[in-house]
Amino acid sequence: MSVIELRGIKREYRMEGKPSSKTKKTSGSVVVVRALRGVDFCAEAGEFISVMGPSGSGKSTLMNILGCLDKPSGGTYNLDGIETSKSDSDTFAYIRNRKIGFVFQSFNLLSRTTALENVELPLFYRRRKHDEKKSSSASARKELAMTALKEVGLAERIDHFPSQLSGGQQQRVAIARAMVNDPAFILADEPTGNLDTGMTLEIMGLFQQLNDRGKTVIMVTHEPELAAYTKRIITLRDGELVSDVQVHERRNALDDLAQWKKDHVLLSEDK
Ligand code: ADP
Ligand code: MG
Repeated sequence: MSVIELRGIKREYRMEGKPSSKTKKTSGSVVVVRALRGVDFCAEAGEFISVMGPSGSGKSTLMNILGCLDKPSGGTYNLDGIETSKSDSDTFAYIRNRKIGFVFQSFNLLSRTTALENVELPLFYRRRKHDEKKSSSASARKELAMTALKEVGLAERIDHFPSQLSGGQQQRVAIARAMVNDPAFILADEPTGNLDTGMTLEIMGLFQQLNDRGKTVIMVTHEPELAAYTKRIITLRDGELVSDVQVHERRNALDDLAQWKKDHVLLSEDK
């Protein structure tokens, strides 16, 4: 069974203002932007998918729908067996908190809070009604957060505050936070947009390792070089899914990181 099943997803934004080439005029000064025009898309557990497309093609709109931050104007979205478009707002929020792990370009960590506490945070939103008592005690939450931080290679840094960590380490904390609830998939929006080359390769390597261990990852990116580390690339254009290809020779980010480090050392010795 697919983890994600989108059928005929449409999203229209209605707004006041002048129509442009992408909008169709309606009565008065209201214009309708058709940001998604009927997207069909399925993802299986264990996939690593990049979402590409030029600016304005509908990537963020699609991410918001996949992340249950927004509902489509038309079509259906089945996530892990639940039809999200029919759910009430409580259930919708529950699905978002429990089934999806978010990773953002800007990390979005709480600055006065340690790495461990940042990772524990999503566990407070679990609702007893739905969840086993397993995660409800403080010690159980701490243990789940420790395990997630170990998985991203930060076991030694659990008491550090975000300002005491590098950008790459902060993003690792954010990835641990995204995983702590064991979500159906991780949704990453330009996760390396604020990182230099070395840290970018480290983070892509981490996503590859997590994916090799079975995590399902969907990542928005502008950069074809980063999409080359994923297993499948879908491309949007003008609100439509125009291509969907498997990556045959997936690059290995940690190999590229090792090579990059070599070149980097050589370059600085040349100077
Ligand atoms: P991308 O992330 O690929 O750049 P978006 O999903 O942000 O694309 O936008 C797709 C289209 O929808 C664009 O034409 C954009 O201007 C429009 N759009 C996005 N969000 C809104 C909104 N909240 N209100 C009106 N139009 C929007
Ligand atoms: Mg966008």
